[in-house]
Amino acid sequence: MSEWIVGIDLGTTNSEVAVVRAGQVEVIPVAVGVRILPSVVGLGDDDSLLVGEAARNQYALHPERSVRSIKRRMGESTTVQMGSQEFAPQEISAMILRRLREIAEAHLGEAVSKAVITVPAYFSDAQRQATREAGEIAGLDVVRILNEPTAAALAYESSRRGARKAIVYDLGGGTFDVSVVNLEGDVVEVLASHGNNHLGGDDFDQKLVEHAIEHLAQTQQLDVRQQPLVLARLQRAAEAAKIALSAQPFATLSEEYLCEKDGLPVHLSLEISRRAYEEMIADYIGETIEAVHIALRDAGLAVADISEVLLVGGATRTPFVQRRLEEELRLQPRAELDPDLCVAMGAAIQAAVISGAQAPSVLVDVTPYTFGTSALDEYEGEMYPYCYVPLIRKNTPIPVSRSEVFHTVHDGQKKVEVNVYQGEDPDALNNISIGRFLVEGLRDAPA
Ligand code: AMP
Repeated sequence: MSEWIVGIDLGTTNSEVAVVRAGQVEVIPVAVGVRILPSVVGLGDDDSLLVGEAARNQYALHPERSVRSIKRRMGESTTVQMGSQEFAPQEISAMILRRLREIAEAHLGEAVSKAVITVPAYFSDAQRQATREAGEIAGLDVVRILNEPTAAALAYESSRRGARKAIVYDLGGGTFDVSVVNLEGDVVEVLASHGNNHLGGDDFDQKLVEHAIEHLAQTQQLDVRQQPLVLARLQRAAEAAKIALSAQPFATLSEEYLCEKDGLPVHLSLEISRRAYEEMIADYIGETIEAVHIALRDAGLAVADISEVLLVGGATRTPFVQRRLEEELRLQPRAELDPDLCVAMGAAIQAAVISGAQAPSVLVDVTPYTFGTSALDEYEGEMYPYCYVPLIRKNTPIPVSRSEVFHTVHDGQKKVEVNVYQGEDPDALNNISIGRFLVEGLRDAPA
C-alpha cells in the first residue's frame, strides 16, 4: 500500500493535482507542459468517456453529452443528464477526480489512494459531504476537506510570518470569492467569506465576444448569434485576446474563415486596447471590490487591519484587477505564485503535514525589485519629465515581459530617450538607473 496523499483543487472551471516529493511541491502535469485539467466531462462520438480538454473542446458542439461547472451542483439531490444517462453531481466530480488520480499514479509510478481536496470556504456541510463522496467513488480516501483560502495561505506561507490578517481574493473562470482570514502559526481561520458563484474570467470573455458580434453586425451586416460553432470560435479567440491584454496594451481578436457571407469567407481581425477592455469589465471588477468590503465588514475589520492580499485564480492575472485592489487596500497584492496552481499546492502541503512531513516551502523565482521607466507627467502639481512608471512590480515571477504604450511630447519629434530604473520612488531620479537607450528615426508625426 502506498502512502501517497495527493492534494487536489477540484475547481468549477479547472482542477489540478499536486504532491510533495523530496520536500518539494510538484503540481503534476496532466499532459506535456500542461498542469491544468478543465473540469469538464463528456461522452465522445463512440460513447467513450472524455475528461478535461477533450470534453471541453466538444462542449460547444455537443452540450447535450457534456457537463461542466458541476461544482455548482454539488450537494444538491438532483441529477444531470449526459447523453442518455443521468448522473448525480458527485458521480460527475468523481470522473474528474479519478482522472486526476490516474494522472498522479502514472507520474509517481505508484498507487494513490488518499487525498486532501479543497472546497470554497462558504461550502455547506452537504456540499462538503458530496465532495467526500465524489472522492470515495473515485477510489480516494479523503483525509481532509480543506478550505481553498486556507490552502492558498499555506502555499503563500503567510502563516509562517507571524500572526496577521489577510484577504484571499479568488477570481477564477466562473466563480469569485473573497475571504478574510486570520493567520497564526499553523492555524488559518476563515473569518468571513463573500462572493458570486457566477462571476469570473468567462464573463470577461463574453464581453469581448459581444464586442466582436457587434463589430460583425456593423461592418459586415452579419448576425452570428444563432451559430454555435462561430460563437465557440469567437469565445476561444476572445479568451486568447484577453490573456494577451494582461501583458500587452493592445491585442487583436482574430479568426480566419470565421464564417461565410454570400459565399465568401469572413475573416475577423479586431484590435482592442487594454483601456477599452478595462472599461468593458469595470462593473464586474467593481462588484468584486464591493464584495471585499462586505467580507471585511462581516469580519468586523477595517482595511487598515489587513497586512496581506493573496491572489488566487487565473483571472487575477488581469492587471486591472491588481491595480484596483491596490488602490482600494493600499497594499500591493501578492502574486508570486501561479494563481491557477496555488490552491492545489496548498492542498499538497496540507497532505504532507498530515503524513508527518515538515511543511515544505514553495520555491519561486521572483524579481526582488520593481523595474520601470520614466515619462513626462504631473508630479506634485507640476509637469515633470522623470515621473516613474513601474512596469514590472517586485515579486513578479520571472521570466516576465511587459509592454506599455507611451507617446511623443512634441510634434515632429525624431527620437525618444528611454530610461530603465530599479526602485519604488515616484521620482525616477531617486531610483537606481540601470540602462538607457534611444529610439531614433521616428516618422514625422504630431505629438
Ligand atoms: P481558474 O478557474 O482559476 O483556472 O481561472 C481560469 C480563468 O483565468 C479563465 O477565465 C482564464 O481565461 C483566466 N486567465 C488565465 N490566464 C489569464 C491571464 N494571463 N490574464 C487574464 N485572465 C487569465
